[in-house]
Amino acid sequence: MRVRVDPLVCEANAVCVGLAPEVFDLDDDDELHILQPDVPAAEGDRVRHAVRSCPKAALTLEE
Ligand code: SF4
Repeated sequence: MRVRVDPLVCEANAVCVGLAPEVFDLDDDDELHILQPDVPAAEGDRVRHAVRSCPKAALTLEE
């Protein structure tokens, strides 16, 4: 499973960071970084929840 962010859509509100901090991180310039684009199995449920919860629909999953 891979996860991507559309940086033009992301508004850096940190919802995904709060739900899956092992995978998503915001830097000091409010740019979202995906720490583990190839999502480990142990993070799958958290990442799916984060993708569904993104208020901007900026995250995309490829299963
Ligand atoms: S939840 Fe969506 S809008 Fe918010 S930081 Fe994550 S990708 Fe960006």
